[in-house]
Amino acid sequence: MQKSTDVRDALQKDEAHLWHSMKPFNPEATIIAEEAKGAWISDANGKKYLDGMAGLWCVNAGYGRTELAEAAYEQLKKLAYFPLTQSHLPAIQLSEKLNDMLGGDYVIFFSNSGSEANETAFKIARQYHQQTGSHERYKIISRYRAYHGNTMGSLAATGQAQRKYKYEPLAPGFIHVPPPDTYRYPEDENAAPAELKSVQAIDQTMTWELSETIAAMIMEPIITGGGILMPPESYMKGVKEVCKKHGALLIVDEVICGFGRTGKAFGFMNYGVKPDIITMAKGITSAYLPLSATAVKKEIYEAFKGTEEYDYFRHVNTFGGNPAACALALKNIEIFENEKLFERSNEVGGQMKSELTSRLQHNRYVGSVRGKGLLIGIELVESKVTKKPLDAGLVNKVMAGCKEKGLIIGKNGATVAGYNNVLAISPPLNLEEEDAVFIVDTVVGELNGIAETN
Ligand code: PMP
Repeated sequence: MQKSTDVRDALQKDEAHLWHSMKPFNPEATIIAEEAKGAWISDANGKKYLDGMAGLWCVNAGYGRTELAEAAYEQLKKLAYFPLTQSHLPAIQLSEKLNDMLGGDYVIFFSNSGSEANETAFKIARQYHQQTGSHERYKIISRYRAYHGNTMGSLAATGQAQRKYKYEPLAPGFIHVPPPDTYRYPEDENAAPAELKSVQAIDQTMTWELSETIAAMIMEPIITGGGILMPPESYMKGVKEVCKKHGALLIVDEVICGFGRTGKAFGFMNYGVKPDIITMAKGITSAYLPLSATAVKKEIYEAFKGTEEYDYFRHVNTFGGNPAACALALKNIEIFENEKLFERSNEVGGQMKSELTSRLQHNRYVGSVRGKGLLIGIELVESKVTKKPLDAGLVNKVMAGCKEKGLIIGKNGATVAGYNNVLAISPPLNLEEEDAVFIVDTVVGELNGIAETN
């Protein structure tokens, strides 16, 4: 599409027929993306943007990978579909590969989205306790500010009221605890894990809710969409110990943190913990096709192996583990390995974070620059002393300024109490050196610009 009349026509039709997620929330005009390569997309007017969010934190291997398209095409010609009530080779091979990446103790259940992977995890956790005789255990603990999906269970686990209150009642049995937020509510990093405030809060909640009623805790290694909140380094180990003490399973949501986003294959690997259940989506196919997975410790799976019909996991997913998506995911993981993209995320992300930290240290609106690998957050505040979130108008101005210069970045946190003040930078892991420089220069330029003129 070239002519501006065609673009205008497309925009009108878009307005007339397409219901976008979050559209009223989007302060800028719609980009109609047409093609993309590496970290760059071109819109219908031919304008180029560096996608500093890798779509929605998902195009980890970058755009324009013809080998991924070919892997799917070859598989579709050979076997387009067969349900996983039976089996097929791409699903077998991918489950083996994922299990290798996770260290070998897991079995894999496939679905199509992050929300479904989390729903699957909740059902497995509840049924596991039923199978093993703990009939009272149904409650799922999660953190305020975390996002876990859009379905009635995964949204119930989500700790952001503004996403939920119009759809209530959601699935019952979900209880929230405060997240660790080392910028706003610093904890003593040197304290023993159980003494960390946010770990203690989980311990107390599980105690007063009655241990015997708790099925599981779900957490992201680093809260992403809720504001890129860095936990104390020992936090996850502490959570795992508390879960063990109360007999609850630990579900780790790797939907964003997985597949190299934080500089390791999975985010939990930064914290020396082995979760009971791990959910993943987005980066598993670099978003070329829908696919998600719930990895479950073998000892949990064993409890479902009874011979009675009601011992089975009564959960079917028609499209989950589609052969083309699995074949594509295998090729995608091969790319990660051949191009060492997890290591690259760690190196390039680390360099970007230290550049941003040093160049923004005197900017009066920048409260904190944080993250791991290519998951970088910049928290904007009105004052570094009060830490009051920066006015939404100014945050939007920074984003619009970046977009004008050809850079898409994200914004997150929570609209509750105006906490929508964290800029997010999460580009494809294969971005070029000069792309990283462009992101840093543009973001620094825009932030210094508003600090000087407002
Ligand atoms: N968990 C996390 C941490 C997410 O960020 C998301 C989506 N942004 C989901 C779950 C839900 O994934 P999906 O949109 O694929 O259902």
